[in-house]
Amino acid sequence: MYKITVLPGDGIGKEVMEEALKVLNAVSEKYSIEFEVEKYLFGGCAIDEFGTPYPKETEEACLKSDAVLLGAVGGPKWDDLDGDKRPEAGLLALRKSLDVYANLRPAILFNSLKSASPLKDEILKDGLDVLVVRELTGGIYFGDRGTEKIDYGYKAYDTESYTTMEIERIAHIAFKAARNRKKKVTSVDKANILDSSRLWRKVVNEVSKEYPDVELNHQYVDNCSMQLIKDPSQFDVILTSNMFGDILSDEASQLTGSIGMLPSASLRGDKVGLYEPVHGSAPDIAGTKKANPLATILSVAMMLEYSFDMIDAANDIRKAVNDLLEDGYRTPDLGKGIILNTEEMGDMVVKYLKR
Ligand code: ATP
Ligand code: MG
Repeated sequence: MYKITVLPGDGIGKEVMEEALKVLNAVSEKYSIEFEVEKYLFGGCAIDEFGTPYPKETEEACLKSDAVLLGAVGGPKWDDLDGDKRPEAGLLALRKSLDVYANLRPAILFNSLKSASPLKDEILKDGLDVLVVRELTGGIYFGDRGTEKIDYGYKAYDTESYTTMEIERIAHIAFKAARNRKKKVTSVDKANILDSSRLWRKVVNEVSKEYPDVELNHQYVDNCSMQLIKDPSQFDVILTSNMFGDILSDEASQLTGSIGMLPSASLRGDKVGLYEPVHGSAPDIAGTKKANPLATILSVAMMLEYSFDMIDAANDIRKAVNDLLEDGYRTPDLGKGIILNTEEMGDMVVKYLKR
């Protein structure tokens, strides 16, 4: 039986998680699979109760589970706390304690939401469905850094390094993900300038030999950021380093035009994963029932796919979401249509799932 630790968190995190759990329940019934679901405090609500965003008992539960499903954390109530006491510090601690080194962010533009995208219709005619696989625990964000006094002012530096092992393991995740998709990986680097990128390219080429069914090409990051806007349909999986992935995943996500629709997964190569919507706790709409639960519901789909190998169930959820959008159902952030509140949208996904 799969063990799932659920961390609803704060603000709309709590609201969207209720709906995601309804959908998980419906999957459990449809596929006759039991999930053991336990909720724990994490983020601001944990600070209120225990004085820390990531309490010991929450950590113990997370470390014992097959998957962690997270809502969102933070809010104005905790904004004035010191760095490591803030809800967001809990996020870093959670990722670190789970040792998840791969961040997967799909940017999918559902057909009926095309008008939300800043891209022109002609560019979107072949659709937009890109998965950015970002290395999360190495590279320039974790390299040697410093600031030194020099004759005139200062010198500050950050260094990027990658080892063969770090590149291999993230590449395997990207190639495996591509196998369930359009079987194409674009590895993005700056190998015309950076040594770390030259090693990146070499190792990715090596790893690709184990995946003869997956097509591989390479792009420089400056070109890739341009191509994403010019012709996004050329991409399936983008495999890249920590910093380039940080930038490209934000760029790709904006092409879909709706933050309320974007799921994410953080993985470490075995089946354990952390799943959460890309959006934050949105204090401005918390309590108004306007929150869009689809990003978290689509995060459940990623959990089913990557942690439990339930690809059919994952695609059922995606199809339910696609179909109800086609039929005009919307939360307020998605624009005009038959407007539903958070709960009604969760119920609608369940209804479509059962059809
Ligand atoms: P964080 O720092 O946690 O990322 P943030 O304030 O930067 O928080 P979000 O919480 O993601 O960013 O919110 C950005 C904007 O998008 C807000 O105006 C919010 O109302 C809106 N928003 C975010 N998520 C949703 C959602 N699920 N449904 C509807 N609107 C949303
Ligand atoms: Mg933000």
